[in-house]
Amino acid sequence: MKKKDKPLLSLEGVGKTFQTDKIQTNALSDINLSIYEGEFVAIAGPSGCGKSTLLSILGLLDTPTSGRYFINEQPMEKLDHAALARVRNAEIGFVFQDFNLIGDMTVFENVELPLTHRPAMSRAERKARVMECLAVVGMTDRAEHFPAQLSGGQQQRVAVARSVVGRPSVLLADEPTGNLDSANGDAVMKLLSELNTKQKVTICMVTHDSRYMGAASRAIRLFDGKIVADDVQVAAA
Ligand code: ADP
Ligand code: MG
Repeated sequence: MKKKDKPLLSLEGVGKTFQTDKIQTNALSDINLSIYEGEFVAIAGPSGCGKSTLLSILGLLDTPTSGRYFINEQPMEKLDHAALARVRNAEIGFVFQDFNLIGDMTVFENVELPLTHRPAMSRAERKARVMECLAVVGMTDRAEHFPAQLSGGQQQRVAVARSVVGRPSVLLADEPTGNLDSANGDAVMKLLSELNTKQKVTICMVTHDSRYMGAASRAIRLFDGKIVADDVQVAAA
């Protein structure tokens, strides 16, 4: 993988401490990590090692307690709530383990949601973008269905469409196959791989399943809140 000089995302000495009642948890300590355009990064590690915390910080869903986070070389700590929401909407797509679709909205409306924050985009353009993304994930014929009418695998494909409809700089996925059986998990992984290779989407994925590490171009291992391995893999599956 040809690395550009400028990272898309960059964490410098990032730590995260949770304080609850009398217990203090050091979820992350001294994380130094840069992610470059076009990469498919997989993050693995045992339960509780800080994977979701790391992804939440990368996705601007949480803030570090120490260190700095840069997106496109812009420091995030200076931004207020509204500015962070704008950056999140423009730069980040997020896929969760439990899909997180909105139950009383159709598939079309769920996928359209990130675009409704873009006043400059016409309705016709929004519709074209939504249908294009539904086609990519093979869900065109389900546009008017509700999430409850879909299988888990189909719901996750809709969630993937929603995550990329705004053409974010990076797609972050936290155990996207964790709630799926192996056939549906394989289908979602194939979709992510194709998004990376064909549509050039930069991906950072947390996975508990070592079978899926091979799909990535780079494998990071976390242990006790620290990066213990960071390997560029020569042959992506
Ligand atoms: P993983 O995703 O690798 O299983 P997490 O990032 O969810 O791990 O959690 C890392 C550690 O931080 C765990 O010890 C967890 O209990 C703790 N933790 C995560 N979120 C919170 C929170 N909101 N409040 C308190 N502790 C938390
Ligand atoms: Mg987790």
